[in-house]
This record gives sequence, structure tokens and C-alpha cells, in this order.
Amino acid sequence: MKRRSFLKSAGAGLALAAPAVARAQLPELHWRLASSFPKSLDALYGAGANFAQRIAQLTEGRFQIRVFAAGEIVPPLQVLDAVQSGTVECGHTASYYYVGKHPAFAFDTTLPFGLNARQQNAWMYEGGGIELLRELFARYNCVQFPAGNTGAQMGGWFRKEVNSLQDLKGLKFRIAGIAGQVLAKLGVVPQQIPGSELYQALERGTIDAAEWVGPYDDAKLGFVKVAPYYYYPGFWEGSAQLSILVNAQKWAELPEPYKVAVELAAAETNVRMNAQYDVRNHDALRELVQAGARLRAFPRPVMEAAYRAAFELYDGLAAADPLFKKIYLSWRKYRDSSHLWFRVAEQTFDSFVYAEARKRVGGRG
Ligand code: CA
Repeated sequence: MKRRSFLKSAGAGLALAAPAVARAQLPELHWRLASSFPKSLDALYGAGANFAQRIAQLTEGRFQIRVFAAGEIVPPLQVLDAVQSGTVECGHTASYYYVGKHPAFAFDTTLPFGLNARQQNAWMYEGGGIELLRELFARYNCVQFPAGNTGAQMGGWFRKEVNSLQDLKGLKFRIAGIAGQVLAKLGVVPQQIPGSELYQALERGTIDAAEWVGPYDDAKLGFVKVAPYYYYPGFWEGSAQLSILVNAQKWAELPEPYKVAVELAAAETNVRMNAQYDVRNHDALRELVQAGARLRAFPRPVMEAAYRAAFELYDGLAAADPLFKKIYLSWRKYRDSSHLWFRVAEQTFDSFVYAEARKRVGGRG
């Protein structure tokens, strides 16, 4: 109000100078961001770096965020804790790493048989997802922003083939988030291990199988050398959203233009990371097959059993926790409703184009 009345009384001649005055009053800020990802995984780590770089650009260098890779100042699976306590002002992570604290954190990343990347964005930005999840994050002294998506993932690397449900019994499988609880219902023994330690665990036989992301990242981690059966689809991750978490007090203290910069930088990071995977995964998949990866589809009975187990688990969690129920009902309503539209338009378009394009290149598409 004060500035508006000043501009009004000062006249049109001073209007151009006024924004510069307002900018000069914005403070220089130096924040630290803890990433859950190592620098070697450049799409995942790079999303946090892109977020920081965009904020510096949007604020003419006044708001600087220094990015630390997994383990540099915070262990990779404790980014939420570090942001909650204020050890760092912000972090970049996958919220489903924290389902042990509250199962509803999964909605901020993905749930088995949940949303694809398009649907996740729709529910988050326009379907009430962000607002509902803020209730959860507030309990942990954080404010969250979608900031990256891998798209649909692969089902991971197995030392031996999975031909039936019987082959899952006792299988020590590195799998993150609530998906581990679903597969546990089928006899799997889920393990949560950070990406940086996965290859060694698989090589030593500490685990029998490991899922990570998809061809681009999986190639970097070298799994093909120690577990050649590469399964699809990653039915527990039809997409996987990453998030920027900001400490709630630090967020409240931010000048409004910096809050807008955080929102915009996170949103751009969200789109850009998904695009990176969508231009890199196909070449990586081809190279992995040349390097000896044996592609296998999960048997249908395995997927059907997992589907049943997943929704039994969600119903149980909803009965036990009112906030999980509140978020789940919104998510489920959007998910089920969106299928009508996606089936009519997207699925028929995609199915026709993939089949036709493949025919025209002699089946080598
Ligand atoms: Ca994964």
C-alpha cells in the first residue's frame, strides 16, 4: 500500500525507477541444500543444482543456494530430518524415503499402480495434491514443492528369473518406499539402500535384486554386470516425483519475490528432469541390451497379485490414519476418474502410433 501511494504521488516519471528501489531492499541470502543423490547420477543430483541456479538467476544473484551431494553434509536418507531441524534450509529428495515416519509421504513421490507423470502433475498442481500434502509436511516443519520426475521406471535387476509368485518368496530386493510393503505381502524381503551402495550389495550377494530408476541411471550404476535380468514395468513407479523441501520457518521468513522464485524454479526443474529422462532412456536401454541385459516382463499373475496387495494395503492404512485417508481419497478419486479420459484419448493414440511406426521400420522400431 505504501509503495502504491508513493508511486501515485510521485507521478509517472518515477515509476521506472521504483522497481530498482524495491529490488535493492531484498536481502542477500545464502542457503544450503542437501540432496539425497550423488553427483554421478547427474539427472537426479542435477535437478537440485538446476533449482539453485534458476533461483540465483531469478534474483540477480541475491538468493544463493549451495548444493551438497548425498552424504556431504547429510546422509542421503535423512534429508527430511535435516530440513525439519533446520540443519539445512532446504533439501532435494524423494519423499517416499520417509514412509517409516508417515505412510502418506508416498503420495508425494508415487505409490504402486498409481499415477503416471502427467497424472501426478495434474493431481499435484490442479487437483489439490500440493495443498493436501502441505498438511502432512507441516507436521514435519517443512513446505514441499514438486521438483523432478523420472517418468515410468523399470522393474529392476534380478540375478535369477522371476517366473512365478513362488520365485518372490524370500527374495531380498532393494526397493524403496511403500512398494516394499506391497511386495512384502507376496513374500519379498524389502531392503532400503541408498543408490550409492547398491552395486556393492548386489555384487556381494547381500541382496538378490535391486530396482533403482530406469536405463539411464541404471547403466551408470553397472547392475548389468552382476544381475542380468532386467524386468519391466516398474509397476510400483508409474512415475516418481522428487521434491524440494524447505524448512517452514525459513520459508515464512522469505521475501515474497523469493517465494515466487522458489515456486518457479521448482516447477521448471519438475518439467526439465522428466524431459532429460525422456531423451536419454531409449539410447541407454539399447546400450544395456547390447551389454548383456536380458529384458523380461513381469508375469501377469505377479502383477495381478501385487495390484490386489497394493489396494488392500492402502485401505488398511486409510482405516488406521485419518490424514492418510484424507489424502488417499483425493488421490484415488483423481486416479480413477482420469482413467476414462486417458483411455479414450492417450491410450488409443499411443497404441496406434507405436504399432504403426514399428511396422514401417520392419519391426525394428
Ligand atoms: Ca525406483
